[in-house]
Amino acid sequence: MKIVCQSCGRKEEVNKDFFLKVLGGVVSGFGFWAWTAFLFAGTGFAMPICIAIMAGGGALMAFSDEITEWVTEHYDCPQCSSNSWIEEEEYKKLQAKEQEKQKALKAKEAEKEKLKKDNENLQEEVDYAFEEVDRLENEKVEFEKLESKQVELENKLSEVMKKLEQNDK
Ligand SMILES: [Zn+2]
Repeated sequence: MKIVCQSCGRKEEVNKDFFLKVLGGVVSGFGFWAWTAFLFAGTGFAMPICIAIMAGGGALMAFSDEITEWVTEHYDCPQCSSNSWIEEEEYKKLQAKEQEKQKALKAKEAEKEKLKKDNENLQEEVDYAFEEVDRLENEKVEFEKLESKQVELENKLSEVMKKLEQNDK
């Protein structure tokens, strides 16, 4: 079982030698029970945990929560002196989750950016439509002016014609 410092990522292998390093002192005799007794006295772990530490592997993993908690309370990271340890697999899971989160966040950002752009395009279209309406409105006014001028001219013309006709008589 490995533990990882959550601050700097330093890894430590958790085995009997690790506890010897943390607890200090010496093990009197090197047999299985001498070590188990040393762990039991030094850590205050229940006997099954001490035996699991000696066995290592899957047996140790069964108590990873208790062991990680103990290490967090008793052992500061030699690299950054922080004391937030986490079991390696848990650490990997957390990191994967974090990456997933970052990915989702990025996707959301991209979507937001796209919506913003769509909105801008739409606004441009609306602006253009309004301009077009203004332009047509102006054209209409100009046309009406011309029309009324034409009517005026026609009236004048018919007046002149009438006068000419009268003069002819
Ligand atoms: Zn550290």
